[in-house]
Amino acid sequence: MTSSALGELITRNRYVLLDFDGPICSVFAGIPAPTVACHLTTILLGAGIAPPAEIAETDDPFDVLRYTITHTPELGADIETAFRAEELAAIASATPTPGAAETIHACQHTGRPVAIVSNNSEDAIRAYLTTHGLTNEIAYISARTPANIARLKPHPHLVIQAIQAMNADPTRCVLVGDSITDVQAAHATGIAVIGYANHTHKTQRLTDTGAEAITTHMTALADALRFAHFACE
Ligand SMILES: [Mg+2]
Repeated sequence: MTSSALGELITRNRYVLLDFDGPICSVFAGIPAPTVACHLTTILLGAGIAPPAEIAETDDPFDVLRYTITHTPELGADIETAFRAEELAAIASATPTPGAAETIHACQHTGRPVAIVSNNSEDAIRAYLTTHGLTNEIAYISARTPANIARLKPHPHLVIQAIQAMNADPTRCVLVGDSITDVQAAHATGIAVIGYANHTHKTQRLTDTGAEAITTHMTALADALRFAHFACE
């Protein structure tokens, strides 16, 4: 894989689907994710559910949500509601990813509709976009709501929903994400992936999972978008 793979994907695709936590910002920069996971686990314990050690000690609140949906689905709504409240609190101190706003602006200036496709709460994403003046540049937000907690990435639902909402040709869509689940959800839908790898270990992991191109900085993606116009339809 070379940098030409990135340019080729950008030239070939018109619609840009952006994962949120990572490519756009660090959601839990101010309120650490392990703290949120611990709060969610406490709710389970309060309901008389004792999750296994790997859940009780996890750093990832999504592990707690997934466990709940699978093992105690009757508590899924309570955990989702609590998680959403934690995300809304965290979003005030979320750190923008360098080059993220420039990437969104570059899409806007070159006629590329942008959708956000995220397992994070739609409410938290909307709050972030409002705070950072980006709402008007986003065509659609396909994210977690109380109704879809069992269909988060790697399930293809959120990707399909974004493609349909933009009335986009799937062969002209590319997803930018930093997790294996982003690659899995996109490939399940038949669309290509640009892996955002801000750490060396992520480059290997995303490449091994089959990401068609890698960018290590969102600023590099913004530059590539600015200078490579998409192919005519
Ligand atoms: Mg992410």
